[in-house]
Amino acid sequence: MLEFKRAEGDFAFGMPAEDPHLTDRSAKAAKIIANPGNFKVCESCDSIVTARVALCPNCNGYRFNAEPEAVIEQARLLAARAQTSVTHEDLQ
Ligand SMILES: [Zn+2]
Repeated sequence: MLEFKRAEGDFAFGMPAEDPHLTDRSAKAAKIIANPGNFKVCESCDSIVTARVALCPNCNGYRFNAEPEAVIEQARLLAARAQTSVTHEDLQ
């Protein structure tokens, strides 16, 4: 019984559906905000891509906004949006 409970606890610790995702998102956003010069914002779908790519991996768009300020703002927006959608799911 104790062993079973413990295993269950381990599982829940590694598997919560929301937190790791969110942490991952904000970690990514933090990384982008720390190095905005390495990224750019796709003007078609608003995703943040590495500065190296010529085409957006998401929508094949080729117009980007490489201004650090725009990149930072978009990173913040995406992180906030992730939080909003989790909250939204929670309410349903
Ligand atoms: Zn795109």
